Amino acid sequence: MRESTAEVVIIGGGPGGYVAAIRAGQLGLRTVLIERAALGGTCLNVGCIPSKALIHAADAFHVANGQRETTPFGLSMGEAKLDFGRTVAWKDAIVNRLTGGVAGLLKRSGVSVISGVAEILDGKTVKVGTADATTRVRAKHLVLATGSVPQVLTTLPFGGNVISSTELLSLPERPRNLVVVGAGYIGLELGIAFAKLGSDVTVVEAAERILPRWDAALTRPVVRRLEELKVSVITSAYAQGLTPDGESLLIEQRGRAPRELPADKILVAVGRTPCTEGFGLERLDLAMDGKFVAIDDRSETSMSNVWAIGDLTGEPMLAHRAMAQGAMVAENIAGQRRSFDATAIPSVCFTDPEVISVGRTPEEAKADGKVDGYEIKVATFPFAANGRALTQVDEEGFVRIVARASDHLVLGAQAVGAGVSELTSSLTLAIEMGAVLEDIAGTIGAHPTRSEAIHEAALGALGRGLHF
Ligand code: FAD
Ligand code: NAD
Repeated sequence: MRESTAEVVIIGGGPGGYVAAIRAGQLGLRTVLIERAALGGTCLNVGCIPSKALIHAADAFHVANGQRETTPFGLSMGEAKLDFGRTVAWKDAIVNRLTGGVAGLLKRSGVSVISGVAEILDGKTVKVGTADATTRVRAKHLVLATGSVPQVLTTLPFGGNVISSTELLSLPERPRNLVVVGAGYIGLELGIAFAKLGSDVTVVEAAERILPRWDAALTRPVVRRLEELKVSVITSAYAQGLTPDGESLLIEQRGRAPRELPADKILVAVGRTPCTEGFGLERLDLAMDGKFVAIDDRSETSMSNVWAIGDLTGEPMLAHRAMAQGAMVAENIAGQRRSFDATAIPSVCFTDPEVISVGRTPEEAKADGKVDGYEIKVATFPFAANGRALTQVDEEGFVRIVARASDHLVLGAQAVGAGVSELTSSLTLAIEMGAVLEDIAGTIGAHPTRSEAIHEAALGALGRGLHF
């Protein structure tokens, strides 16, 4: 057995683990990163990046086909063709480029990367079996960044045509009938993409409406787009399992007789579960927060010098949260006093149209206000009154701002519409910097841009709206 010592050993090379490793290396800490699969974790390999590549290709194909009938601005084209094999290969090339980039960044930061499955022996020792040898790494600090895996439905275990997002992102061809179980982030981002690619898509959701984490006003434009794309949406419904021939999904919808949905592929996307088993985590007997590893505001677990970051530590299970925690943990290990005190972590659902939320929603702010004794102001500005949106032939959606009535402190913002994901950074910055409505109203935005809707929503909240 090989022996190795370090100041920091990190298990998991996803956005949490690789960022922690780069930052630790930059800070001069001797760092070992152990990854059992490809660097970049879920996000780079089978999550954020490949899904956005597929969404882009699907959208381009759909838009091109939409131009078979003359567009309002006079363009018409012939039938669009898509070589799906090339689409998947292009997506894989982007993934490889980014994971290769991560390897380069780790090298530049002086991080030692070991490829293999890590097993925790105690809070300072990790064993890893590689192709040629077993290595025991001893380190003062252990960072757990093992991420999450798709949640299994007991009625519909993965296997055969029942697949997770990982397999859906690498299919050799487009399924004729795709049934999606779960109308959350993954189900709708990918369900919409495959509908645009030409699959017949049916979405089965247990809740009463799609995207139940988001409020109904925000999701209404997505419901309309699903109708336009002829995606069947079945809510208040549960998957009961495959039919005996394995060719259909049996579902039960509240108030209706069970029915069968023919399916070439069934995507199960009902959430993700933290990766806590099979690598000796139980030996540490850490305090848990439900199924997640419990952490304090510095991301330290109940055992001193054992840290946990990313999906392993709970909601929101987002790459940018994992990265922020990773950098912070490295700085804490290096002796800096950092704590995780983000006022706002933006969420983006890359559906068509995109949906975003930063900070408090009107409902959340109202509930806080009841406890803390304040009233709120909410103002909305529709893209139908935005010049840029009209010139892009897509006026669906709006921007909404939530502020405290007494001092106009901006508490939150939401939006739905084409390209609104790019509005998150200015909205998050405003909230992090404690902006008031007057700060946004007094900032000159470039014309004509969709971001003017933020300015107009702030003006609206102040009763000074100009274009609506
Ligand atoms: P992971 O990325 O899951 O990485 C954990 C790593 O640990 C893995 O590489 C795993 O192989 C490794 N590992 C586990 N156990 C061991 C062991 N014993 N030994 C060695 N290595 C081990 N988030 C966003 O913010 N934006 C998006 O657009 C977005 N899109 C997504 C789309 C899909 C289809 C999916 C599935 C997820 C998406 N996410 C998105 C979520 C995002 O991918 C995760 O929040 C993020 O990857 C979490 O990072 P992490 O470092 O905590 O874990
Ligand atoms: P999710 O929590 O977003 O959605 C799961 C959906 O499945 C919910 O609407 C839920 O009501 C439904 N559901 C649960 N059990 C069901 C059942 N038995 N039958 C039918 N429906 C059922 O989870 P997800 O879509 O699997 O995504 C997992 C996580 O990955 C997300 O929570 C998010 O953290 C991350 N993610 C983020 C992005 C992004 O940031 N754009 C994209 C994809 C994934």
